[in-house]
Amino acid sequence: MIDGSLCPHMSSRIDQFLDDELDETTAETVRQHLLECEDCSTEAEAWVVIRHAVKRAYEPDAAPASLLERITAELATSDKQETPAI
Ligand SMILES: [Zn+2]
Repeated sequence: MIDGSLCPHMSSRIDQFLDDELDETTAETVRQHLLECEDCSTEAEAWVVIRHAVKRAYEPDAAPASLLERITAELATSDKQETPAI
């Protein structure tokens, strides 16, 4: 699932994007790329699932991260039809 097939310049960006560490302009660029690039969206989706699981494990009572919820929703409605709901 997570391998080296994604766009090289996006790899670290995705990580920072999911950590909400990017400025708005860069974050928007990454977000757009995720919507257009299947490789990177798959990568991001995998990270979202992992991070979500980790977050829930450590913060069972915390509210869902709105950013991750948004990304997950957008990815789910963009081009994914084969991915089962988690
Ligand atoms: Zn890409």
